[in-house]
Amino acid sequence: MRNKMIIAIAVATLTTNGLMGEEKKFDYNVDRFADIEVLRYQVPGFEDLSLNQKKLVYYLTEAALQGRDILTDQNGKYNLVIRQTLEQIYVNYKGNRENKDFKGLEKYLKQTWFGNGIYHHYGMDKFVPEFSQKFFDEQVKKLGNQKLPLEKGQSLNEFLAVIDRVVFDPAYLPKRVNQADGEDLILTSATNLYDGVTQQEVEDYYNALKDTTDSTPVMWGLNTKVVKENGKVVEKPYKVGGLYNDAITQIVVNLKRAAEFAENDAQRAYIDKLIEFYVTGSLKTFDEYSILWAEETKSDVDFINGFIESYGDPLGMTGSWEGMVNFKNKAASHRTEVISNNAAYFEHNSPVDDRFKKENVKGVTAKVITAAILAGDSYPSTPIGINLPNSNWIRAAHGSKSVTIENITDAYDEVASGTGFNEEFAYSEAEVKMMKAHLTLADKLHTDLHECLGHASGKLLPGVDQDALKAYGSTLEEGRADLFALYYLADPKLVELGIFTDPDTYKAEYYKYIMNGLMTQLTRIEPGKDIEESHMRNRKFISEWCYEKGKAENVIELVKRDGKTYVKVNDYEKLRGLFAQLLAEVQRIKSEGDFEAGRQLVETYGVKVDPELHKEVLERYARLNIAPYKGFVNPIYTLVKDEKGEITDVKIEYGENYVDQMLRYSHDYSPLTRKF
Ligand code: ZN
Repeated sequence: MRNKMIIAIAVATLTTNGLMGEEKKFDYNVDRFADIEVLRYQVPGFEDLSLNQKKLVYYLTEAALQGRDILTDQNGKYNLVIRQTLEQIYVNYKGNRENKDFKGLEKYLKQTWFGNGIYHHYGMDKFVPEFSQKFFDEQVKKLGNQKLPLEKGQSLNEFLAVIDRVVFDPAYLPKRVNQADGEDLILTSATNLYDGVTQQEVEDYYNALKDTTDSTPVMWGLNTKVVKENGKVVEKPYKVGGLYNDAITQIVVNLKRAAEFAENDAQRAYIDKLIEFYVTGSLKTFDEYSILWAEETKSDVDFINGFIESYGDPLGMTGSWEGMVNFKNKAASHRTEVISNNAAYFEHNSPVDDRFKKENVKGVTAKVITAAILAGDSYPSTPIGINLPNSNWIRAAHGSKSVTIENITDAYDEVASGTGFNEEFAYSEAEVKMMKAHLTLADKLHTDLHECLGHASGKLLPGVDQDALKAYGSTLEEGRADLFALYYLADPKLVELGIFTDPDTYKAEYYKYIMNGLMTQLTRIEPGKDIEESHMRNRKFISEWCYEKGKAENVIELVKRDGKTYVKVNDYEKLRGLFAQLLAEVQRIKSEGDFEAGRQLVETYGVKVDPELHKEVLERYARLNIAPYKGFVNPIYTLVKDEKGEITDVKIEYGENYVDQMLRYSHDYSPLTRKF
């Protein structure tokens, strides 16, 4: 379960100093095409790792990069062949590279790299080529059989007939994952996780396997492709000696090297267990690995490498291959530790009724990490937080790891500051300046307070059903955590604890929160639609409620200027008072399970969109021309060796551009394609 709240931070800005006070400004912007912006991220703290840790990171990054082709193939049967054909044309093309057809092909190739296949990574629709079939066919023929990934015995014309249809016929395999109710989700999805089977056959197959009395069930189908052989439905496991053998073997080779540099025995044990899983394909082994992984919290370096999230499967079973290597951000983790250690203070002093407070509250320590490499389903589009493992019974019995990836959020923040977003939407220069100076830290604190304390605070009265709020439960729960965070952001205790020094930090967050809740989050809603997503609903109900309840005292104002609407906060102290009042009420609703009051609150303030304001916001946003989707290129890690061949250091470099990185990966980390 990941936390893809990427767009939620679109409003954030940077500190005036920039990251880490570096003299030369780091260049975050790498490439821009279609609806995509490609960025790069820094890996602060890498230099401070021990040599042993650097070696561990190095081999784990190698293991991560070796999985790229797996995901591309999972995402569509023809993806690897098409990618390779496009790359061959791109590299060998002798004509004018400004030519319209070539430009179109370049754009399509960049999209294909970004989507790990020919489908949009988020929208799931097949990309529309902006180059002619005639141009494509000519280029393919110029390459000739020797430079094309033909199947054994396949003629060039047969090859073209297949690829042309997939690329140029919009009606053929149009969507990677189809979720439309009532259709055969497998037959209508182009994903390569199934072949020759219907949804009914797959469901029957798994229903026969599942034992509903098993309290520790494995995650059926996580690492298999389901096909029909001799009229029978069978699973083909991804493992050494099975599907994707060549890639998985390379992953295992590098995991074995990494294990030599494990930070402790517990970490070595989970790496070994992961290798065992890749060798056997056994889901029981994967569960054992997940438990070892979830319980190991001592080491600084950590990673994900495997079949993890199942959004790519219309039935939500098979995991998309994903890799990420990271290490603990000690300074930021210290911040969340201090907050957690003082959980009792925050609980006892909160504005909610004492009956709803926990006597013994334990804060959750959210670990803050620095990503060192992104791969598979995390690359180039990446989450900003991770919460794993996904198995419910393992989470309940053995815990889970929840992390926020601070160097990725920092990169988003830095880039957002250059888009003119705040300049367009903030009331005046004063608010723009305030957000510039304080919002990076204020946003992090808001997240810390929300995650470490907000969700952990409060209790239900005896006998209250935890699902009493039904469909409004998650919106109200997110609202509760947000209100707890907002209320305490302005508490002098945080200054006393040394978390920040400028007491005005909270105002930047308050302003952004209300501006976002009342207006700017509407940029993510299509015209005519209401707000459905629970985080967006909670931000709206909080902002609208405060706007209305503060009207008599003019706490928040909506000001019209030159036909544009602006949010103006006139009294930050009183706004805090409103947050306190609403927190007390939302906690009451939760503690008493007052469904009707919860429903009223959300439906009255959190759902309906003012169509006129919506239209205005969308127009203003469109003029800023901000790419809706972002992703990242990775840094390059190189081993430094002395004359005896001993590794003395691992060097990190950032300069690589998008095309070079993709072509290099396709050359150096492509175990599943043919070599030319
Ligand atoms: Zn939350």
